[in-house]
Amino acid sequence: MALKWATELENVVEPEFKYVANMHGNEILGRELLLQLAEFLCEEYRNRNERIVRLIENTRIHIMPSMNPDGYEVAADQGPYFNGYLTGRNNFNDVDLNRNFPDLNMVMYYNERNGGPTDHLPLPDNWKEQVEPETQAIINWIENHNFVLSANLHGGAVVANYPFDKSKDLRVRGYRRTTSYSATPDDKLFKALAMSYSFAHGWMHREFNCGDYFPYGITNGASWYSLSKGMQDFNYLYKNCFEITLELSCNKFPKESELQREWDGNREALISFIEQVSSLPKV
Ligand SMILES: [Zn+2]
Repeated sequence: MALKWATELENVVEPEFKYVANMHGNEILGRELLLQLAEFLCEEYRNRNERIVRLIENTRIHIMPSMNPDGYEVAADQGPYFNGYLTGRNNFNDVDLNRNFPDLNMVMYYNERNGGPTDHLPLPDNWKEQVEPETQAIINWIENHNFVLSANLHGGAVVANYPFDKSKDLRVRGYRRTTSYSATPDDKLFKALAMSYSFAHGWMHREFNCGDYFPYGITNGASWYSLSKGMQDFNYLYKNCFEITLELSCNKFPKESELQREWDGNREALISFIEQVSSLPKV
């Protein structure tokens, strides 16, 4: 019995980390990078690379290369030369999975004004009827693991984006605004996490990428553009998991010949971001 307790205790205290890619089926770089990362971690562990051994033995690392395999197949049928901006983005039911999570921001903004909890918010009773099967699988996964840090890999820009994605204030003096910096109570930590990626990345920190300008290669989600029911806000509000969204390539479907350069540019960032688990506040 004592041994069983010891094992359970170890499971509880070892932090859980996750990478999720290809939520938009036509944004394929993250999927390729995560497959490469999994292989790299296994090989370097076998080679007894001290840094990788330490990382693997102190963190439970979960890797999901594709959250939207149906969308991916639609995009991959077209290939890199004909891939339209939206072809394959959504799932089989034509739903954008990054607009499909329960809207906990609304609950939080209501509770901020009227009193009530603003973190560890419960799911709405009918949440299963509101979401797609892929989203439901992710929520069950989050429910069953103690994730503390994660990243969601996308494409179409090059920047590290941190919560909140949903703007608190879309109306200012009667004019409709589409952007408004919406800070979490952990804004400083989120900025540091986003910068840990952008500065370890080959060129994300250079600020001008894909025709956009992002100081330090990072942005608050809502100050870029506001979106509701996204995955990163949900992770934070539901389980206090620090999730950021990584936009990794100007072209959503880069050619095979570009993958080596992308791996070289992202490898250190992907590894050092997992190491940020140790910089999180202990509770
Ligand atoms: Zn995307």
